[in-house]
Amino acid sequence: FPALTDSPAGSTAGGPADRPALRFGERSLTYAQLAAAAGALTGRIGEATRVAVWATPTLETAVAVVAALLAGVPAVPLNPRSGERELGHILSDSAPGLVLTAPDDQLPAPLRDLARVDVDVHATGPAPEDRAADEDPALIVYTSGTTGPPKGAVLPRRAVASTLDALADAWQWTGDDVLVHGLPLFHVHGLVLGVLGPLRRGGSVRHLGRFTTQGVARELNTGATMLFGVPTMYHRIAEAVTSDPDLVTALAGARLLVSGSAALPVHDHGRIATSTGRRVIERYGMTETLMNTAVRADGEARPGTVGVPLPGVELRLVEDDGTQITAYDGETVGEIQVRGPNVFTEYLNRPDATAAAFTADGFFRTGDMAVRDPDGYVRIVGRKATDLIKSGGYKIGAGEIENALLEHPGVREAAVTGEPDADLGERIVAWIVPDDPQAPPTLDELADHVAERLAPHKRPRVVHHLDALPRNDMGKIMKRALTHD
Ligand code: ATP
Ligand code: MG
Repeated sequence: FPALTDSPAGSTAGGPADRPALRFGERSLTYAQLAAAAGALTGRIGEATRVAVWATPTLETAVAVVAALLAGVPAVPLNPRSGERELGHILSDSAPGLVLTAPDDQLPAPLRDLARVDVDVHATGPAPEDRAADEDPALIVYTSGTTGPPKGAVLPRRAVASTLDALADAWQWTGDDVLVHGLPLFHVHGLVLGVLGPLRRGGSVRHLGRFTTQGVARELNTGATMLFGVPTMYHRIAEAVTSDPDLVTALAGARLLVSGSAALPVHDHGRIATSTGRRVIERYGMTETLMNTAVRADGEARPGTVGVPLPGVELRLVEDDGTQITAYDGETVGEIQVRGPNVFTEYLNRPDATAAAFTADGFFRTGDMAVRDPDGYVRIVGRKATDLIKSGGYKIGAGEIENALLEHPGVREAAVTGEPDADLGERIVAWIVPDDPQAPPTLDELADHVAERLAPHKRPRVVHHLDALPRNDMGKIMKRALTHD
C-alpha cells in the first residue's frame, strides 16, 4: 500500500500526500492526514493479537482498518446491526484484545467488557511502517450467514493485495479513479474493494453514509468515476432513472458501474441500459476467495454473466461425481472451484469446515453452480444448497426463473425455491412481491409467463405472495427464511 506509507504528514504541499483519500459525508482525509491518524493509532494497537472494529460507515472505521493492516494485526470488522447473539458468537470465536470505535459509538452488552480505543482522525503520529508480511492474516471477515451461521474467513495480506491488483488489471483502475461507495464496511465488498481498493491505487473514496440515488447522481456528476453496488441498489437506480435526468447524466458519464454480492437481475440491467446507454458489469466473489471473476472494462457486459476468471485465478467447473467440465457449451452445470493467491487460508477455529472446503489438489469448493458460455464467460446458476432444484429429472437453476418472473409487469421482487413433491422429486415454488398487492398475478398467469420464456418444466407449481422478501444487510435474499407456515 505505497500511497499510505509514502505519505508522511507534512510532506511537500501539492504532492501526492495532499491528494484526497477518504470522504465520508462532510468529513474527509488526505493521504497525509490518513497516514498520520493511522500512525497514531498503530501505537495504541500495540501488541494486540487481533482487534475488533465496530464497523460503522465512518472515517473512523476506515482509519482503524488501515492502522491494523499496516501494524500487521488482523482486524475483525463487526456488523453494528448484528444481534447480541451473533456478536457474542463472533467475539468468543475471534477473541479480539480490544475494539476500535468512533468516539460517540454506543456499544451493546457483548462488547462492553472489551478494552475500547476510540479512533481520533485528527491525531498525528509518525507515518506508519508497513509491518505485515504476505502470509500474515490481515483480516478475519465473517461470511454473510446466508446459508448457515457466519464463519470467520482468515484472509492473509497476500489475498487482499492480489485480488485488488487483479481487479486493477481487469478494470484499468488507477489513482485517478474516484469511487462512489454506499455499502457497509463489515464485508469484503465494502471494505476490501470499496476502501482498500482505492487506497491501494492511490485514488479516493466518497462514501455516501446511507445509499441514495440522489447521492450517486451528485457524486458522479462532480468528478467521481465509478460506482460499486449490490443488486438492491441497482434496482433502486433502475426505478429512479426514468424520472431523474441528473441520474441519467451521472450514469452515462461514469467510467465503470459494478455490481456484486448477489446476481444482478437481467431486468434491472436492461432497464438501466435502456435509460442511460450504460451497462452495469458484474464481478463474482465471496468472503473466502475475495474476487474470482469479473467482466473486464474493455469486455462485453453480457447480462446474467460475471465475466472471466481474474489474472492468477484458476477456475474450474466440477460435476457431482468429480468430473471436470471441459465443454464451454453454456449448458453443463458444475460447481465452481477456485485456486489462487486470492483464496483465504482457513476458517477460524473450524479445521473441520476448512478441510471440507478444499479438494485434495487445493481448490476451494465455492458451493456456487455455473455454466460457461462458448467464449469462457461464467454464468452463475445459483448456490448448490438452495438454488438448484431437482424436478422431473431436470436440474433447474432458480436464477433464470427469477429473472423470467421479474419481467412480468405485476412482479416487483421474486425468489424461487424447491420443495418436496411426490411425483417430481421437487416442485418449483415462486415467492412473489406483487407490484399491486390488491391484484397479484395468479399462479396460472405466472406459470404461462415462465413456460413461454424458458421451458414448460421450469414453470412454478406454487406461488406465495409476500410484502417483502427476507434480505440481509447486503440485500441478499435469505432463502432459508422462505418457508411457509
Ligand atoms: P454464508 O457463506 O455465510 O452462507 P454468503 O455466502 O452469502 O454467506 P458471502 O461470502 O458474503 O457470504 O457471499 C458470497 C456469495 O455471494 C457467493 O458464494 C455467491 O453465491 C454470491 N455472489 C457474489 N457475487 C455474485 C454475483 N455477481 N452473482 C451471483 N452471486 C454472487
Ligand atoms: Mg458463502
